[in-house]
Amino acid sequence: MTKRTPIKVSMEKLVSLSRRRGFIFPSSEIYGGLSSCWDYGPLGVELKRNVRQAWWQDVVQKRDDMVGLDTSILMHPQVWVASGHLEGFSDPLVECKSCHLRWRADELEGDSCPSCSGELTESRQFNLMFKTSMGPVEDEASVVYLRPETAQGIFVNFQNIVNTTRKRLPFGVAQIGKAFRNEITTGNFIFRTREFEQMEIEYFVKPGTDKEWFDYWLKERLNWYLNLGIKKENLRLREHGKEELAHYARACSDIDYLFPMGWSELEGIANRGDFDLVQHAKSSGQSMTYFDEEAKEHFAPYIIEPSAGVDRSVLAFLCDAYDEEPDKDEIRVVLRLHPALAPIKVAVLPLSRREPLVKVAKELYADLRQCWMVSYDDAQSIGRRYRRQDEIGTPFCITVDFESLEDKQVTIRERDSMKQIRIPISELKTTLAAKLAGEPFEVLP
Ligand code: ATP
Repeated sequence: MTKRTPIKVSMEKLVSLSRRRGFIFPSSEIYGGLSSCWDYGPLGVELKRNVRQAWWQDVVQKRDDMVGLDTSILMHPQVWVASGHLEGFSDPLVECKSCHLRWRADELEGDSCPSCSGELTESRQFNLMFKTSMGPVEDEASVVYLRPETAQGIFVNFQNIVNTTRKRLPFGVAQIGKAFRNEITTGNFIFRTREFEQMEIEYFVKPGTDKEWFDYWLKERLNWYLNLGIKKENLRLREHGKEELAHYARACSDIDYLFPMGWSELEGIANRGDFDLVQHAKSSGQSMTYFDEEAKEHFAPYIIEPSAGVDRSVLAFLCDAYDEEPDKDEIRVVLRLHPALAPIKVAVLPLSRREPLVKVAKELYADLRQCWMVSYDDAQSIGRRYRRQDEIGTPFCITVDFESLEDKQVTIRERDSMKQIRIPISELKTTLAAKLAGEPFEVLP
């Protein structure tokens, strides 16, 4: 087979496919939508769950040096004083004096309004934290913030983790959860929204070993995307310059992905030093140190933080998986998603709606559903049905035909190669499990 250059999908195409097939809908659509908010539909929610699951398995389940955590979105307001967010988590904002649109000053190319060329105001710092109040009385004392990152929930629980798990350095804590940022400009579909989900690791190490662990996690995280099928040429590492570093960071590198709008951050890996633990110790008056039994000394560990976005990862996986190829007189749209990420793993397609074929197909469908997300489709021609499954990334289709009634065999068709094999129904589950886990799809002579 000749090797084709993979196609680059446009954001419009992806938004349209996502909506048409039930991956992602605009939020509150019947009221005209809410800017930058999105709802994950029946397929999107599976894809998102699979992304989280793949991450959790890799960074928690398969490791001996990691534990998980799930902390609350609302935290004590002092957390954000200590972390520096109240003071410094802001972007420079300018407003157009004519049309009143607001822009992030550091993202503008010229010095006039990109929309109407009007004159812009002086820039001022705009804090990105969402403020709300807790309890029935709305006064200064009741102000709380929606967390702008999940990380702080991990730092403030440092002693709880050490005391309850008895983990010794180096060890890490992983958390997945919602974060909120009142971004000045949003856009590019689910790339930058005001409500999003993060997958964050805080990895605690002995000072002096931090550089080594920083390099380790950079490699580890890059490999995670590669192992889940993202093309190498669409990923790059970008080291932050000194002037770009956040106030807490000693070093930072981004894993960038080549999104339809260009190279943009997918995940950030930062060396936060002991900044957070020292700040929280000062601010709370509680000890945030670790006792090293070998060296017999107390110190605040340094922290390496790989911080990824669930939604941004979903977008990158969708962009990377999208493909179109000529097929007879048509174009076949196929999402070449890694089987671990595909929302539906198997589709059962009966070749006819007649009995007793339907009974056999339905029984198969019910049985396979005990193991995987499976769909059943008996509408229109088999070719159409294959196309529908290709378009949502289903790795395998099972066709049940009249011969199946006689020989108790079914046909498995693989999404990427469109190759088919025929196997006994009794072997179907073990074969599918092996193929989904990556066993090659060989057509036996
Ligand atoms: P950016 O420069 O794109 O604003 P950031 O450097 O502020 O991002 P971090 O604070 O490093 O982002 O957040 C870690 C990760 O969380 C990002 O790599 C991204 O995947 C995700 N993320 C951050 N902000 C948003 C957002 N507004 N919408 C969706 N995902 C986000």
